[in-house]
Amino acid sequence: MAKLDWFLDGHPAIDLVNTVRRRKIEPVDLIATPGELAGWLAAAGLCARPAEVTQAHLRKIARLREAVHALVSPDGHPEITEADIAVINRCARQYTEPVLALAADRVTVTVPTTDTATQAIATIARLAIALVAGRARGHVKICGATDCGIRFLDTSPKRNRQWCSMAVCGNRAKAQRHYSRNR
Ligand SMILES: [Zn+2]
Repeated sequence: MAKLDWFLDGHPAIDLVNTVRRRKIEPVDLIATPGELAGWLAAAGLCARPAEVTQAHLRKIARLREAVHALVSPDGHPEITEADIAVINRCARQYTEPVLALAADRVTVTVPTTDTATQAIATIARLAIALVAGRARGHVKICGATDCGIRFLDTSPKRNRQWCSMAVCGNRAKAQRHYSRNR
């Protein structure tokens, strides 16, 4: 199978859900190994330096991903459970607050944790909660292509975006319409 690119649309919680591709037909996990997860966390801008990723981080993010999937699902599938809510809250609580310090008249910010992968996972959980707290939750959509399944935040002025990407699914749909018209 051709290598799939990470889909980074700008909201880490939605982007995380999209690391499982082709949810509807033949799911592919893009962050199935520690190396892939470390690469994705860096690409998503969640780590300043490469994170050390263990199997425990992998299990944690896989569980968080399904919980967030249920949380932001625009069609209510899968239905969210108490266990999903608990997972998201637990991950969010593992966030370590940055601390300010003043040294030689200079303000510095440090994060008192060495576990950057857990900090990144906690950040995603917090962003998922913030998404639900704000109005943006109503703007989560599923790509209109039947075989795609990618989620995205519709921030278009008229809220009428249909495709995960015009370059991929949008053009495919256009070509299909053209084909059926001219047949
Ligand atoms: Zn799509």
